[in-house]
Amino acid sequence: MRFFFLGERLAVDLLNTVVVQDGRVHLLQGPMDVAAWAEAAGVLPHGALRGSAAGQEPERLRGFRETLRRGLVAWAAGGTPPPGLIALLNRHLARDPEVSEVTASRGKVVTRRRPAGAPLERLYGAVARSAAELVAGGDPRRLRKCANPSCRLMFYDVSKAGRRRWCSMRTCGGQAKSRAFYRRRRNGARRGGGSR
Ligand SMILES: [Zn+2]
Repeated sequence: MRFFFLGERLAVDLLNTVVVQDGRVHLLQGPMDVAAWAEAAGVLPHGALRGSAAGQEPERLRGFRETLRRGLVAWAAGGTPPPGLIALLNRHLARDPEVSEVTASRGKVVTRRRPAGAPLERLYGAVARSAAELVAGGDPRRLRKCANPSCRLMFYDVSKAGRRRWCSMRTCGGQAKSRAFYRRRRNGARRGGGSR
């Protein structure tokens, strides 16, 4: 099982668990996949979902993912989050309330906030918090789909220039670069071998 973590935001990485749209390659097929994704994403420790991720969960998580996708794509296109997205996020944020905690060790006392939901609730809560932070403080123009028309992966562009176009330079970006290189070389040869 290979997941993609190139979206730069957890919520976007969840969207990237569908790799091909029409061939329908899903990376969240069974309960084990839900647990594996949550662990790979660093949301839950290993084994946290064992036994508790019931049979319906992959379907529910996929449903959540597609509603989230529609909301975030609408936000990227229109610049404001649609009311349906706000409602979806609030519903899932409420499943995983945060509590304050104080710890003391070796004379150092610190307070922190931590999610207090059960493992499955923490998974939805973490994705919902990520999406909420994105629409609250992010730039909608920086949420994009890979420029390769046959690739469905999405990312949030965190580059300084804001000109990221590809899911990855090793795959789609690299292929486009080598296609452009061969096209230039072919055209150059046709014109009589000039390098440019
Ligand atoms: Zn791509």
